[in-house]
Amino acid sequence: MTISSPKGYEDEAALGRALDDFAAELGSDAVLTGEEDLAEFRDPFWVMGSDEHDASAVVVPKSVEEVRAVVRVANRHKVPLWTFSTGRNYGYGGAAPRVRGSVLVNLREMNKVLEIDEDLAYAVVEPGVRWFDLIEALEAAGGRLWSSIPDLGWGSVIGNSLEYGRGHTRLGSHASNIAGLEVVLPDGDLMRTGMGAMSGGKSWHAYPHAFGPSLDGLFMQSSLGIVTKLGWRLMPRPETYISCNLRFDGDEKLAPVCDAMRGLMLDGTVSNYPFLGRGVVADENGNPDLDPTSEAWAMRYAIYGYPEVAEAQLRIAERVLGAIDGVELEHRTYRGDDREGPDKGIHDDRVQAGIPGMELLDLYKVPFGPDTGHLDFSPVGPLRGEEVVSTVKLVRSLYDRLGQVYAAGLLLLPRSILHISVSFFDPKDEAATRAIYDAYPVMVEELAKIGYPIYRTNIRNMDVVASQLDFNDHAFRRVNERLKDALDPNGILQPGKQGIWPRGLRPEG
Ligand code: ADP
Repeated sequence: MTISSPKGYEDEAALGRALDDFAAELGSDAVLTGEEDLAEFRDPFWVMGSDEHDASAVVVPKSVEEVRAVVRVANRHKVPLWTFSTGRNYGYGGAAPRVRGSVLVNLREMNKVLEIDEDLAYAVVEPGVRWFDLIEALEAAGGRLWSSIPDLGWGSVIGNSLEYGRGHTRLGSHASNIAGLEVVLPDGDLMRTGMGAMSGGKSWHAYPHAFGPSLDGLFMQSSLGIVTKLGWRLMPRPETYISCNLRFDGDEKLAPVCDAMRGLMLDGTVSNYPFLGRGVVADENGNPDLDPTSEAWAMRYAIYGYPEVAEAQLRIAERVLGAIDGVELEHRTYRGDDREGPDKGIHDDRVQAGIPGMELLDLYKVPFGPDTGHLDFSPVGPLRGEEVVSTVKLVRSLYDRLGQVYAAGLLLLPRSILHISVSFFDPKDEAATRAIYDAYPVMVEELAKIGYPIYRTNIRNMDVVASQLDFNDHAFRRVNERLKDALDPNGILQPGKQGIWPRGLRPEG
């Protein structure tokens, strides 16, 4: 592979031969090289007009066999590929590749919901299935099942869950909902994980383990395969759904609130994944609005189930949280089969009921108009109240240093917390955009000093984030490199993703 520094693919002749072969395998209309075709897949939040992250072509396979053909062609000509499902991974690079000049594998055309099992509560989806598509299919099947969703409905179930994306219902830990994968390996082989290893295996999507090592994790945030099918766990529609909020002023209150919520999550009183936001307030219609000057924090959480149990859980949650001085509580109760109630109303009620929308995208355009870019900074730490306060102070001080406001969305798990914060900038302003990206590694290093790794990052910062994982002379990276070399000997699939480079492209050669 001909890669120049800083990691751009440059072998025009090999690329030309590969494009001919892609066209022979997929048809010429499935191989796009026009400037406009490529423009659609740029990183929307990188410097406008820069070609630093541009792809050289896009191929659009329509079947598993075509995906296998794409991989074989890439191996034949040693051309790097970069896969995406819907490419809406905005803030982390969108569809744009780590290595400039890679060929994008666009899976949007493989977009069928292959199966919905209403009894066992799972669906099987292809990569192009968006949250909007899945929810529509579940409703068309009778609405007995709910899916967890992230805020925006235009992304894919597969892209989001493989990246450890998160949602806001009881099943909001999306990587944990994965129930069996079908994967095209970097050499074109095809494999199914778990009990899908048996042809016709009846428990592929029903039983969570394998006979032998569990390989699903190999394909998450990974460059070891292209996932072509994914089993996805769903929850039964609850009889009652209660959407709850609380508000308080000042960072200090985060300590008792986080400690109380940890207890409620660990004992199962609150079964979803609460969200704590600062700088985002509800407008008069209940939709989110940005108010970076506000010192108020708002938390949402939800309770689902039979009315008798849900109401008791609500009383317990409100008693525990209400005992904290200065906390204001609110809740709204819906019938589980009332999809219009939560949808008409407030953003929080919608997402916690698994109803996708697009309003967060509009919100993120507020600072600099339609082209507004944002970069998300996402360290993960333990859910201990006092530590949440000190980490918030540290992160806030890093934004102060940058001259940026601290807009935060903290995602709570029962034992940990993702400290997500967002820098906004105008991608038309090159200097301002570069300044934001350049500040990021410094922030990563500051958080590493207190033992906080980053859970997910932008293509530009994958190396710096990976470099912090230094236990035993970077054993984690060394093992990943051995796996990469074994499964992808030509290093054609997503080279550099998560800071893992194939042999020959590593910094040491
Ligand atoms: P979204 O669902 O948010 O649009 P993307 O489609 O942009 O997400 O995917 C996010 C990332 O996940 C990609 O950059 C890629 O690394 C990985 N990914 C997405 N789809 C697949 C897939 N089918 N197989 C393997 N990795 C994938």
